[in-house]
Amino acid sequence: MQALQTQTVMHHFDGGNSLCLCVCAAGQNLDNQYLVAMRRNLILTAWISCITALCGIGQTDILDSGGKLTALQASYDVTHYGLELSIDPEKQWIGGSLTVTARVVEPMEVLELDLDTVYDISSVVGEGKAGDLAVERDLGKIHIKLGRKYQAGEFFTVTVAYSGNPRVAPNPPWAGGFTWDKTPSGAHWIATSCQGQGADLWWPCKDNVSDEPDSMDLRISVPTGLYAACNGVLRDSSSEAGSTMYHWHISTPINIYTVALNIGPYVLIEETYTSVTGEEFPFIFYVLPENVEQGREIMPEFMDHMSFFEEMLGPYPFRADKYGVVQTPHLGMEHQTIIAYGANFDNTAMLGRDFGFDALHHHEMAHEWWGNLVTNSSWEDVWIHEGFGSYMQALYCERIGGEEAYHNYMRFSRFFTQPLPVAPKETKTAGEAFRAPVYTKGAWILHTLRNYIGDEAFFASLKQMVYPDENHLNATDGSQCRFVDTDDFQTIAEEQSGQNLDWFFDLYLRQAELPTLVAHRISDKKVKLLWNMPVDYPMPIPVEIRYGDEELTEVIPEDGIIIKVKQSEKLYLDPKKRILCDISD
Ligand SMILES: [Zn+2]
Repeated sequence: MQALQTQTVMHHFDGGNSLCLCVCAAGQNLDNQYLVAMRRNLILTAWISCITALCGIGQTDILDSGGKLTALQASYDVTHYGLELSIDPEKQWIGGSLTVTARVVEPMEVLELDLDTVYDISSVVGEGKAGDLAVERDLGKIHIKLGRKYQAGEFFTVTVAYSGNPRVAPNPPWAGGFTWDKTPSGAHWIATSCQGQGADLWWPCKDNVSDEPDSMDLRISVPTGLYAACNGVLRDSSSEAGSTMYHWHISTPINIYTVALNIGPYVLIEETYTSVTGEEFPFIFYVLPENVEQGREIMPEFMDHMSFFEEMLGPYPFRADKYGVVQTPHLGMEHQTIIAYGANFDNTAMLGRDFGFDALHHHEMAHEWWGNLVTNSSWEDVWIHEGFGSYMQALYCERIGGEEAYHNYMRFSRFFTQPLPVAPKETKTAGEAFRAPVYTKGAWILHTLRNYIGDEAFFASLKQMVYPDENHLNATDGSQCRFVDTDDFQTIAEEQSGQNLDWFFDLYLRQAELPTLVAHRISDKKVKLLWNMPVDYPMPIPVEIRYGDEELTEVIPEDGIIIKVKQSEKLYLDPKKRILCDISD
């Protein structure tokens, strides 16, 4: 362990291989978990825990992402990243440069970027500056002396040339890095994933979800014969000396963990989709040659997912670029405009059960709204990506299978146990935030809110959360994207429902314990019902109660209620499971 830390300082530690053992061990124990999403939580946790144990520190800059900004990070706002990379699959090597343009927020003379220690930096140059800029590296941080003090409002441009063998993803997409795989016919098949660890696993960046570039360009060179499918729009491609360069332009802000390389002998299945706004945009599936038929067959379903989301939430946010989905050697990720799809045309791939649709694709597409259009300003609010994203599959079940299918889905996903609040108020890193049950408990919180405030207010709240007004809804120039947090959603839900929801958010999101509905028999004929509340509020959600021929719906007051149920009668509390709570009877 100490040796690993020492090697880290020397910028050469081979953490990927060592950590792989920890992660795989954790992964094997989790094979019987119900949901892959759950595995994703736990494996990420296990991975971070391994790092913590190995390094003896709370987190490393490289293998975690986000958290509190350092003063140096807070002093600039990235406006553009330009990433030029050559990919050598045989040597599992990448090399090129990253150019960052940023606006100064606080006076600064040192630029802090994050980059994995596995790379060598060959030069750092500043626009308009002669010679290289002075650089110091400290673990995963690069400190670049800009040569003078920049004042607030000024812009600077710095280019970092770097190369090396990126960390091999121990368990993509949860424990990320590069995946160097082969297609069934033996062609190179490469993908990146870095949600939990941040984009500094493969390029120099400000590794914090709170700063998105306004736009980005990627120029990716791969051996001719392979296709590099990336975010945004393909501007051009050119080949020389056995190498083909693909220039992708992302015209909107992008949360940088969703910037991705997907390289393979892809065949493009291209459609044009007409948005609810009337605008047309390309709808492209980048599929392996072996799967073209299956790709064609599933396109109508993918397009139906799109029409569901447009109807439920509003127009697809990235109409100016494209909707892309690309076949990947890992399960999936919400890479903006180039959704990673590794479900292999198997409806059970994500959930372990077939609910009649490709849940993995549906989930990742949901993130184009929940995560990419609106992004958590810090990771403690990641339930806005994952809880909302997961709840969309339940709503799609309801759309294709009716109310019973919806309730079946919700019951299936009721298995979370982690005793951490879904949306704590304290700043969290990605690694910390994913330890909370942000997926399924997040979805159950929305289910409960919907039951409490009613469909009209609830669905209007979803729409307002993604598009607060007509300007956002109609924009395609990037101004539709914004940062949100849990308080924003509370404000919207209160506005739409006309109710104060402090109790709801404090109960379900800010602390971990669930309310318990206690049924206590006090005589042969009577049962007392009482809420055991972990917060200092009464529980105002009406409870459905069934016994014998009786069906009641009651708000149970703080001192409880007594109902006349004979010993011989079976008592059903909240039989439809509309409320996120424990029941003790
Ligand atoms: Zn997700």
